Amino acid sequence: MFVYILGAGAMGCVFGAKLSAAGWRVHLIDVNAKQIAAINEAGLKLSGDNGEKTYRLPASNAADAKETADLIIVFTKSLHTSDAIASMKHAIDDKTYVLTLQNGLGNAEKIAACVARDRILEGVTTVPADLVSPGVVASHGSGGVQFFTLTGETAPIVEEISAALARAGIDAKADPAIREAIWTKVIFNATMNATCALLDTTPGPLGDREDGVALAAALIEEGASVASASGCPIDAAGVHAMAKMSMTQHRNHIPSMLQDLRAGRRTEVDDINGAIVRQARAHSVGAPMHETLWRLMRVREDL
Ligand code: NAD
Repeated sequence: MFVYILGAGAMGCVFGAKLSAAGWRVHLIDVNAKQIAAINEAGLKLSGDNGEKTYRLPASNAADAKETADLIIVFTKSLHTSDAIASMKHAIDDKTYVLTLQNGLGNAEKIAACVARDRILEGVTTVPADLVSPGVVASHGSGGVQFFTLTGETAPIVEEISAALARAGIDAKADPAIREAIWTKVIFNATMNATCALLDTTPGPLGDREDGVALAAALIEEGASVASASGCPIDAAGVHAMAKMSMTQHRNHIPSMLQDLRAGRRTEVDDINGAIVRQARAHSVGAPMHETLWRLMRVREDL
């Protein structure tokens, strides 16, 4: 299997390193020249619970991706999905599969502008990853992947990817109810990520305050009602449990939206809270709380 990882940041590097060690031929694609140079010159350094290892795998920009891919795994932030997949059109033929495990709603739809729908797979992952410096990433603790085809049809590629991820030490589950898993993660992220980012705090202090807990609970309920209206009812109790877990067990985790704001970067809010609002509008229901967070985030990004 010849695989491009599209977006060789924190997650792309972790998956790329592990899949190459599991026997796949992996080529990393990014737009960040420093990241590409560091990986080509000194190797990709991945530190985990068992220490640091260096992986040798090629990295380049999209224009230097000369081979046609069997599989492309998209790991840019969601705001870059459309540009990234368009830049790889020359490496995609009618046999190429594309898998997105990014956060946010609508990544598969953006990919579908360049790739046939029956070649797209979508999912979610809880594998943790942080970019430490160019060419150096960290992933502590464990996490898994749930994914399935966009069309909902079974296909041999699903088993192939599951088996490779298992060899790579990543727990993978082929889940025909993948839309529910994606909505569940979006509602969780819209609740915890945007709230922590706007308050410039982490889940622990939010969960220590009655108002923080009540706010999160109301955001989850509103998100769940939009998911139902859009034809994808989810188990809201599961999202409440995830939020409680993050407030107690991941007290000091800095959510990615807060990391992005602090670094002066745009966040994924348009594809998280913004996507919930767009779905609410499309199905004639309201999402005033998520709309407020979305607009506040957009102002905050622009300040
Ligand atoms: P990241 O910012 O570390 O990496 C994204 C990479 O994409 C960067 O290296 C960037 O230069 C590159 N990029 C931007 N535009 C590009 C383009 N046009 N072509 C090619 N590359 C491009 O982000 P990340 O933390 O790895 O997250 C990736 C996705 O995975 C996001 O949707 C995120 O929400 C999701 N996710 C992250 C984690 C985590 O722990 N980091 C966990 C689960 C899901």
